[in-house]
Amino acid sequence: MGENVKQFEKEFAEYIGVKHAVSVGNGTDALIIALKALGIGHGDEVITTPFSFFATSEAISYVGAKPVFVDVERESYNLDPEKIEQAITENTKAILPVHIFGRSCKIDRILEIAKKHNLYVVEDAAQAAGCEYKGKKIGSFGDLACFSFFPTKNLGCYGDGGMITTNNPKLEKVVRALRAHGSGENGQHAYNILNNIEEEVEKDEGDNTVYNPKKYYNYLIGQNSRLDEIQAAILRVKLKHLDSWNEKRIEISEKYTDSIKNHGIRCPLKANGKEMIYHLYVLEADDREKAINILREKGISTGVYYPVPLNMQKVYIGSENFENPLKVADFLSKRTFAIPLFPELTVEEISYIIETMQEV
Ligand SMILES: *Cc1c(COP(=O)(O)O)cnc(C)c1O
Repeated sequence: MGENVKQFEKEFAEYIGVKHAVSVGNGTDALIIALKALGIGHGDEVITTPFSFFATSEAISYVGAKPVFVDVERESYNLDPEKIEQAITENTKAILPVHIFGRSCKIDRILEIAKKHNLYVVEDAAQAAGCEYKGKKIGSFGDLACFSFFPTKNLGCYGDGGMITTNNPKLEKVVRALRAHGSGENGQHAYNILNNIEEEVEKDEGDNTVYNPKKYYNYLIGQNSRLDEIQAAILRVKLKHLDSWNEKRIEISEKYTDSIKNHGIRCPLKANGKEMIYHLYVLEADDREKAINILREKGISTGVYYPVPLNMQKVYIGSENFENPLKVADFLSKRTFAIPLFPELTVEEISYIIETMQEV
């Protein structure tokens, strides 16, 4: 947590268009810390999507709350806002939408519902660094938003990394405290905020390189979730290229969509501007097994995102009402798969992939 971490937090906040960005160890920690900062735990319910990476619902379960799964939209694969209200109970504390595959969800509608029912919104923006909704960056809408810098993401470091963004200065203090054992000046600030105490907090001038007694005063049960200085240094360089890489992803993806003409395959819906930044290029095949096997024979790798909806994961089966399949998520989980997509794909590789997709 040296100079590069401090600078990267500033640069990332500026890029997203929020007041605060707090770096953490990875995207899963970002979700866990965000939920903890909102005081979400045992007895609480959080509404989320069944069509995501496991960390989304895992974080909810990890803090002791119950994930309540609401089905996704057929075309966007994102949480269906029109199905949220029927899932709200007196225990609901938050909505946790994901911008899946880099496509912004209908976040304005979700914020409206949250406001009406007095719920928090935590965005899972792990796949959506640089994505926009109606001209505003994803990560600037919710009470808190969570990013991952795992190497496969659109903005990836060389190991694990994550970030939480917010415009709320109190939540920022609590998040800062939770990521580092609830200690020191941030810990004291957070403690006072959470307990409605008004008192001057002595400025911590401690330098991390010398003995700093404040570091050993703990005010909250937090965790160790730091972004390494070397990852921050790499991310500072890569952030400058993110927009152009996302543009390249959009360009290649739209070429795929325009060129792949195959009645057994459905390409993803095109979007306006940066409302879809194609973290992955995910299409649907009626016979996915066959499609994947043919592509493998031709030397083209694929990935299945996601084969098991979160509500159908083994760990949740058997616990209250989780095993009822949600229709759209269930349908998608049997058909979707991704073909290669990254900004450095060559013209020859793109043509080869398109030609092969016609034969599938
Ligand atoms: C990658 C990812 C995460 C978790 O991020 P890590 O950095 O791997 O912990 C959470 N949610 C979604 C949607 C993701 O894609």
